[in-house]
Amino acid sequence: MPFRRRYRVPRDQSLVLRAEEQQALREQAQAAFPAECCGLLLSCFDGRVQAMPMINRSPTPDRFEIAVSDLLGAHRRARQEGGAVIGHYHSHPNGLARPSAADVAAIADPAAVWVIVAVDPQTGTPGAITAWHPVERQGKAGFRPVLLLSARRILRDDPEK
Ligand SMILES: [Zn+2]
Repeated sequence: MPFRRRYRVPRDQSLVLRAEEQQALREQAQAAFPAECCGLLLSCFDGRVQAMPMINRSPTPDRFEIAVSDLLGAHRRARQEGGAVIGHYHSHPNGLARPSAADVAAIADPAAVWVIVAVDPQTGTPGAITAWHPVERQGKAGFRPVLLLSARRILRDDPEK
């Protein structure tokens, strides 16, 4: 693939989420407002990352929770399609595009990528999308930002164009 070769950001520090997938995340976040939406991120056999919406089972609107049975079904579906679950996404109806203290407390898989969709608390309009990886610094759990790219952005950054 021509743009894989010129891709200068190390793979584990960036996530390519196509514009259509980002749009789907924004629409889901807006539909769920004022509650949080959630879903999984699947890497498909062709290298695309696909969003799989999940039912938010959390009894409190400002949290998200994916049922274990839903999660198992998603992993099965990903395997059948030759892919894998690489992480998950949820929305922040309070407008903050970074992980919350509750998110830090909920870190379970150190390899999972987290995507957050900020939603304007006044209007319910979806805004920034950010991506994160869990990290541990001096024994304390936290997140570091992951560069979120869309295919369009990579093409624009191509020095030979
Ligand atoms: Zn959160």
